[in-house]
Amino acid sequence: MSTPHTVHDALLGLQAQGLSRLEAQMLVLHVCGISPQDRAWLLTHETQSLNATQQALLKPLAQRRLAGEPMAYLLGHKSFHTLTLKIDARVLDPRDDTETLVEWALRVGPANAPLKVLDLGTGSGAIALALAHSRPHWQVCASDLSADALKLARDNAQQLGLKVHWASGDWWTPWVGQRFDLLVSNPPYIADNDPHLSALRHEPRMALVSGADGLDAIRQIIFQAGEHLNEGAWLLLEHGHDQAAAVRALLSQAGFAGVDSVRDLAGIERCSGGLWSCAKNVAA
Ligand code: GLN
Repeated sequence: MSTPHTVHDALLGLQAQGLSRLEAQMLVLHVCGISPQDRAWLLTHETQSLNATQQALLKPLAQRRLAGEPMAYLLGHKSFHTLTLKIDARVLDPRDDTETLVEWALRVGPANAPLKVLDLGTGSGAIALALAHSRPHWQVCASDLSADALKLARDNAQQLGLKVHWASGDWWTPWVGQRFDLLVSNPPYIADNDPHLSALRHEPRMALVSGADGLDAIRQIIFQAGEHLNEGAWLLLEHGHDQAAAVRALLSQAGFAGVDSVRDLAGIERCSGGLWSCAKNVAA
């Protein structure tokens, strides 16, 4: 690419290299220090020259994107639900489809009750923070095995002024002796030999991969949930595009009632969940 002199040249140059129009716009706004919301700025500044620093920043960013790095890592942030989160390679890049899980949790949990809610494998804190922001009466807890991820999640909470009780450890282990009214999780769910993993190589493997069929973490969450859920609690999980029937079967097998799935933005059954009844499962 010849060196771009103006905003317009830079946008064309990036697209000629293979970036989408939106990606090119996001990168140019980023190096110019303009808010990603302010795409109109690009139109009003088409003829503005990029300075040497801006041009120097743009090139490696474009190369990293073309090598498959998520845009969120390049920009250092991502919009998720109602929030803007700091994001980097310590955590999974939060997907828009995960907002489906947040919306489901917001529908099943009474807004004004002091619900005790847990997000297992929180990563950047995206789900926990979205719930804490939308439901100030809820007591939101979240954990992750990765100390690096938790550090970023805490930074996000601090920056957003939101209160979440954070804990470190594998799945239920930090929560021994505690019960919740709502459990949400977007655990790793990709099979460890899935050919699509190479496209996700920039993201932490532990946030993506879970055993031979991708369901190891989901099984752990579901089968240990009984010790941690209150009467009438919902357990809601995100899972892979072809795992809904398997996850519903696991939920039913573990004693959950009202087992159901919801579809993501692409119309794929992406989340499954069920209702816990202590009475039913003690009697069984
Ligand atoms: N939804 C992500 C993907 O398939 C994976 C996220 C996850 O494993 N929880 O790209």
